[in-house]
Amino acid sequence: MEGALTARDRVGIQDFVLLDTHTSENAFLDNLKKRFNEDLIYTYIGTLLVSVNPYKQLDIYSKKQMDIYMGVNFFELPPHIYALADNAYHTMLAEANNHFILISGESGAGKTEASKKILQYYAVSCPSVSPMDRVRDRMLLSNPVLEAFGNAKTLKNDNSSRFGKYMDIQFDIQGEAVGGHILSYLLEKSRVVHQNQGERNFHIFYQLVEGGEEDLLRQLGLESNSQHYSYLVKGQCANMTSVNDQNDWRTVRNALSSIEFDNGDIQDLFGVIASVLHLGNVQFESDNKGNAKLNNTCSYVLLSNIFTIQVLSPFTVDYATYARDALAKAIYGRAFTWLVNKINESMENKVSRHSKKTVIGLLDIYGFEVFYVNSFEQFCINYCNEKLQQLFIQLTLKSEQEEYEAEGIGWEPVQFFNNKIICDLVEEKHRGIISLLDEECLRPGEATDLTFLERLEEKMGSHPHFVTHKLADKTTRKTLERGDFRLLHYAGEVTYCVVGFLDKNNDLLYRNIKDVSSRGRKQGGREEEGLFQPVASQFKSSLVGLTDILMSKEPWYVRCLKSNESKQPGRFDDSLVLHQVKYLGLTEHLRVRRAGFAYRRRYEVFLQRYKPLCPATWPHWKGLPADGVEVLVRHLGYQPDEYKMGRTKIFIRHPRTLFATEDAFEICK
Ligand code: ADP
Ligand code: MG
Repeated sequence: MEGALTARDRVGIQDFVLLDTHTSENAFLDNLKKRFNEDLIYTYIGTLLVSVNPYKQLDIYSKKQMDIYMGVNFFELPPHIYALADNAYHTMLAEANNHFILISGESGAGKTEASKKILQYYAVSCPSVSPMDRVRDRMLLSNPVLEAFGNAKTLKNDNSSRFGKYMDIQFDIQGEAVGGHILSYLLEKSRVVHQNQGERNFHIFYQLVEGGEEDLLRQLGLESNSQHYSYLVKGQCANMTSVNDQNDWRTVRNALSSIEFDNGDIQDLFGVIASVLHLGNVQFESDNKGNAKLNNTCSYVLLSNIFTIQVLSPFTVDYATYARDALAKAIYGRAFTWLVNKINESMENKVSRHSKKTVIGLLDIYGFEVFYVNSFEQFCINYCNEKLQQLFIQLTLKSEQEEYEAEGIGWEPVQFFNNKIICDLVEEKHRGIISLLDEECLRPGEATDLTFLERLEEKMGSHPHFVTHKLADKTTRKTLERGDFRLLHYAGEVTYCVVGFLDKNNDLLYRNIKDVSSRGRKQGGREEEGLFQPVASQFKSSLVGLTDILMSKEPWYVRCLKSNESKQPGRFDDSLVLHQVKYLGLTEHLRVRRAGFAYRRRYEVFLQRYKPLCPATWPHWKGLPADGVEVLVRHLGYQPDEYKMGRTKIFIRHPRTLFATEDAFEICK
């Protein structure tokens, strides 16, 4: 009947692999949009999950929903983050190996929400034996605590993660979640002392000041008004409607008590937070010799000495202010590290420490970010996203092709943009931007942000992904300032302002500040000296470490898309979504998946699972596993074009073939 919409027309297709003929970007977009308009925010590309941020609460995350997805075949129910979590979990148990879930997308796309939903799924749905309940609760409670200390309002996201987080969830062989461990990556410490217009400091400061109990605030010498603190008002939006600092304070406070933080710990922690606020209010003025002195009458005698007198020469006001901010950042950074360590202790599995375990790693890291002015922080964040994209390419697209080749199965190469060239531009030894930055940092007194830029121009001159004012042609030059460089990232162009790069990369504390602040601590504090590693290269090494961790595990992907820039419920901005679909390489991924086989398993694994379905393979197959599988699938009636036999694995073209086998298996169990 003409004009009548079938259900399929209306709600689109739930797995792009089954999309009729088109793999064009527009057909892709169309399908996403149809589904989004029906509040169907999840769609598969094979086993990859695409999620579009609805910016409104959907009724799809209840316990009942979790139960529906538990142990059910991936493709039998509507796509869901729970289905992916469940599939990873069951595969881990069946194959006794480690997995990770990589959640990516730009800032505000829904990564952190997705990671929380996955964690909740495991905490609620996995089997449980009583003593472990506490570890599971703590895993969940660690979230609001880390978000309070590591998230902040930015222009992109009211709850933006300002640190990277990788969490291992450990399971015992019965599938019970028995422990957790978090690795954190590069916290954006500069936010402690400065926020851009429309942004805030880390949530915890406002929570403490606005929500803290009277007694506590008195003890810490704090006013219960964030407007009073210079570090809290730089972005001029201390009080915002989308966040309730007082409620959040109670949540965080209760969570801390439940995760083994005793009163002493909590006192210390908030003492440190308060000291940062006090520090921010310390002001300097010039004496008649041009040297800095404290201008507010206060009893910070020690502070006065640290900031205004250097061993040989006194500080100027600018230097003193700079030193004050450096100290505040260092204090906060250490408090954050301490917090992560404490949380790790409390999630440690103390019951079955030595028995065999497998893990699912959850990676939720700050997303690609472009602001009006972009600085060192955006440079690091966007570099990190390049690395993750590179990992994705290596693991899926490339490894897919390589696997077909290695398995001796015919394959037509799919062209895709490989961002390795940009990763190299940033990180290559001796030649990349980070190396050049480090070299400049080793020339104190001589090097400046601008000499760094000159070095870049000299070395990168002809690189296709690097532009500066000097190197640009007429048309591009207009949009570039002299102190800028522009990188053509895989996700788009970003112009970075070099001001502050050297300083932030050095992250130096003046020696006498370090001396004073480490006084009273045991000798251990000294070992850092002489082992100075600049921030960007430290970050680079930690990302290399992360890549190694991930490479040793089986990957699952969640690709989060931002539906609109104004955080509005239900609005789907075509060009914004299309841009993300393009740079995330989703259509290329789809072409790769469609070109080949949706499902593959090693012969041993396949045979072990399905051998009860065929008299010839049950209970034992005496010959080679590959031969056993061949006998088995013929017995099951697989058509010749439905599967291929590789060197070590069987490849199955359509999910439905496997469903039928799974169903038969369930019945025979
Ligand atoms: P990211 O971590 O990618 O920067 P978040 O996960 O913090 O982004 O999401 C930003 C905001 O978008 C959240 O605070 C929430 O308001 C909204 N959001 C994200 N995912 C969902 C979802 N699945 N359902 C409803 N709202 C969501
Ligand atoms: Mg986030």
